[in-house]
Amino acid sequence: MPEDKVKEYTEESLNRLNLSIDAKVLLQKINYKPEAVEIIEDKLRAFCPVHKDKNFRTLMVDLKSNHFKCHYLQCEGYKGGNLLYLYSIAQKCNLGESALFWSKTLNVPLEEIKAPEEEKIEAVPAPAAAKAGVEEDHFAKGVSFYTRNLLGEAIKEFELVLQETPVKELEVRNMLGLCFMKQGSHEKAVEEFKKGLECKGREEKEYKGLKYNLGRVYEASGKMKESLEIFKAIYEQDPKYQDIEQRMKKLEAVEGAPAPRKIKISYV
Ligand SMILES: [Zn+2]
Repeated sequence: MPEDKVKEYTEESLNRLNLSIDAKVLLQKINYKPEAVEIIEDKLRAFCPVHKDKNFRTLMVDLKSNHFKCHYLQCEGYKGGNLLYLYSIAQKCNLGESALFWSKTLNVPLEEIKAPEEEKIEAVPAPAAAKAGVEEDHFAKGVSFYTRNLLGEAIKEFELVLQETPVKELEVRNMLGLCFMKQGSHEKAVEEFKKGLECKGREEKEYKGLKYNLGRVYEASGKMKESLEIFKAIYEQDPKYQDIEQRMKKLEAVEGAPAPRKIKISYV
């Protein structure tokens, strides 16, 4: 099976991803009259980017559920759906590509539906499953706060998940790391990503994501040597991973430059 085939993702992770999307940002990414967006309470109205409406704001997004509908009968968006679907029909890509795009953009992990025989990785104790509903809620809330830049609230939610069920520790550590990174608390972020990497029995790609973020926070805090080391390791493992090649080369160029400086350099 080629790697780039569209994969199937769990509904739970797709829902989580959908709720993490900021509808306004999505319309900016699609870039069809994004300046004409109108938000009234929890409803967003915009010119429909699917049938490219020029006269009316026919697109309606419910910001609580992140579901949309276009009121123009002839539009592909008339039947409505979630924002991942809106993005896919507006950008003419399939749903899997849309999900992958948003997962990467927001750094919200997607879970693939596993074939039964792959399930045997001994990962986490089963009893946690019973509480999964409660804990999932806090996780989704945390992600939602994070994407709206409400970092203090996000951190609180993630800490609750950690207390209630340690099953999600890896994901939670990743999200906590991202929160601290956004806050500029680089040392705390490093700590979280490292703790995430210590979680046992998870999949290689999950560790890879954490390593990538760890490399990024090192880079952001001016620790170029540490950052380069990590990016190189990822590159050796998976040269096509995200933008790893670019990041590595950029750092290598700095390494080779004369008089390495201690000051912070912004690369973004
Ligand atoms: Zn439409």
